[in-house]
Amino acid sequence: MTKLITFVKIVLGDNMECIFCKIIKGEIPCFKIYEDNDVLAFLDINPDSDGHTLIIPKKHFADLDDIDLNTLSKINEAAKHIKNILENKLKCDGISLLQNNGCVQDVKHYHLHLKPNYKNKQSIEILKHKEFISNPKDIYEKLKEN
Ligand code: 5GP
Ligand code: ZN
Repeated sequence: MTKLITFVKIVLGDNMECIFCKIIKGEIPCFKIYEDNDVLAFLDINPDSDGHTLIIPKKHFADLDDIDLNTLSKINEAAKHIKNILENKLKCDGISLLQNNGCVQDVKHYHLHLKPNYKNKQSIEILKHKEFISNPKDIYEKLKEN
């Protein structure tokens, strides 16, 4: 059985177990903010601030070394669009973009973080006091309001 799993992993690639590939396939639920043919954006399950969003390519790329420039451009295009949504709906005062690689990257499927900042809640305080951050479900409802 182990040999079979190893064989399938070699043939299909190591992304069989990838949590973000499972989100794309709908096997794991998410609070979806935006989707097109190339990318998916959803709320981070453990947000650093209200509206903390992840943008991922639908095709599995591990990190910045792995991803191609065309897909990178699609992600940046989506980032501009989602930045507007977060600013308009959540009235945040600024947005930080972050993309981890190597030892600080927990999920090895390329993803871009969009972290809204609020004047009245400095990010550093938020990181220290997770109790000030809303449940992603409540933020999702707010983003979906007309
Ligand atoms: P990294 O450190 O790899 O840049 O960040 C990975 C991010 O993915 C973390 O902020 C973490 O909270 C988020 N994350 C991990 N697993 C899940 C999941 O199953 N669903 C969602 N929505 N976010 C996840
Ligand atoms: Zn993946």
